[in-house]
Amino acid sequence: MLLQFIGKDSGFGEKNNSAYIEINKKLILIDCGFSVFNEIKNKFDFNKYDEINVIITHLHNDHAGSLSQLILYLYFVFNKKVNVYSKCEKIKEYLKITGTPLDSFTLYSDTKNIKFIKTEHVEYIDAYGFTLNIANKKIVYTGDTKILKPFLPYLNDASEFYVDVSKNGGAHLKIDDVLENLTQIQNDGTKIILMHIDDKEYINKVTNERFVI
Ligand SMILES: [Zn+2]
Ligand SMILES: [Zn+2]
Repeated sequence: MLLQFIGKDSGFGEKNNSAYIEINKKLILIDCGFSVFNEIKNKFDFNKYDEINVIITHLHNDHAGSLSQLILYLYFVFNKKVNVYSKCEKIKEYLKITGTPLDSFTLYSDTKNIKFIKTEHVEYIDAYGFTLNIANKKIVYTGDTKILKPFLPYLNDASEFYVDVSKNGGAHLKIDDVLENLTQIQNDGTKIILMHIDDKEYINKVTNERFVI
């Protein structure tokens, strides 16, 4: 598995869903919810990185709630400027109202290695998954999503697919609804990793532990 997880809980859980990968002297963090700053503050030696990159899928608190805090910390304590990758319509405004100095981050949307995929999550907020090319592999990450369809065209040459699932559905994919689809995708050669878990026991039971949770 290319990504490691800081947390994998759903929105009201203890540890916000967030993942990372370290490659050479580069850190890529995926989402930075309200519990993430405290988790990573002492976990990483930020001095050692030449580049700190944060991908933000959407602006719900469990995905962006400590983004400003992290940027400020890296700026004032480590004198480092964060690269933020996001397509959220209000990301600039969000960083502005949280008092994040313009000098402390650089904002990017699509790049050579990150392509955002617009999805549907809740009607109040725009949400994105993405493809990420890293270590000569391609991964696809849904972020929070209630539909699978936007991601399907990107899975052919993907080695891993990180998927938001839940017991009850609604704003998230309902595991029972996508079980067959995900099984097919994994049989076709893309490893499935489930995330944003609201009921681990239930999801383990219905998936018969065929996917990584
Ligand atoms: Zn969430
Ligand atoms: Zn959300």
